[in-house]
Amino acid sequence: MNYRHHFHAGNFADVVKHVLLTGLLAALRRKDAPFCYVDTHAGCGIYDLGASAAQRTLEFKSGLGRLKAATTEAPVPWVADFLAAVTALGHERGGFWYPGSPWLAQQALRSGDRALLMELHPEDAGLLRQHLARHDNVAIHERDAYEGLTALIPPKEKRGLVLIDPPYEEERDDYAPVVKLLQKAHAKWPTGMYAIWFPIKDRHAITRFYRRLRDSGIPKLLTTELCVLPPDNRLGLNGTGMVIVNPPWQFDADCRKLLAWLTPVLSDHKQAEWTVEWLARE
Ligand code: SAM
Repeated sequence: MNYRHHFHAGNFADVVKHVLLTGLLAALRRKDAPFCYVDTHAGCGIYDLGASAAQRTLEFKSGLGRLKAATTEAPVPWVADFLAAVTALGHERGGFWYPGSPWLAQQALRSGDRALLMELHPEDAGLLRQHLARHDNVAIHERDAYEGLTALIPPKEKRGLVLIDPPYEEERDDYAPVVKLLQKAHAKWPTGMYAIWFPIKDRHAITRFYRRLRDSGIPKLLTTELCVLPPDNRLGLNGTGMVIVNPPWQFDADCRKLLAWLTPVLSDHKQAEWTVEWLARE
């Protein structure tokens, strides 16, 4: 486990992931019944963008920096809600901080809602506890998501969201372990909502990933992609994707509006592109 999210916090992929997460959490809040949020790969919860890791890469400049500098209004409220969360965290902590998925989720919980957070790296799990353990409605599990997720679901609330956000070290080639994890989880909790983040570095890997997902037989699979560079550029991370299982009503239409607006905000490249497509319906 070499991956440390501190170097990448607030980059374009984080920003797209966290705006979509904000939209999914808003949809869960539309109903009064309590929900449970599960984060399989939680990270540290919040990130100090003034610290040396973030300052060394400056990745946040082409993500959060560009989003903050957008001159037109976003077509969905999630962007403003996400930026308000960034500002609120800055006021709470003082300085230049970036909210990770656990912090955004905790902010969205109402009384009766819960968050279950898994993080395997001992140092990151310690920071996660430091940042979020004070909240009664948050439980932190220092454990491997690949065995932990199916042990924790279905939650007693019966409704909620699982964010699967691995570092793609072992999952690199065809993301097969992620699809297997989703299949096991979906068998235990078919009505849960699942959001799987994935990197776009090589189009062939994504094609194989989508084939595995379609072959899984899991219905209601929506995929969203935003590429800031041509998808087969060999320089590194070209795009960011999220597959959503059991998405909220009209989430596909909202994502189309969002990504059409967000793509030119995050990239000047003439081959920057986005897609929102169903991999499987009912
Ligand atoms: N979800 C976080 C967010 O959006 O703010 C970022 C998570 S980061 C991409 C991935 C995290 O997964 C890292 O903190 C890493 O230590 C952790 N991790 C790696 N392998 C794991 C495993 N098998 N189970 C649980 N956590 C793991």
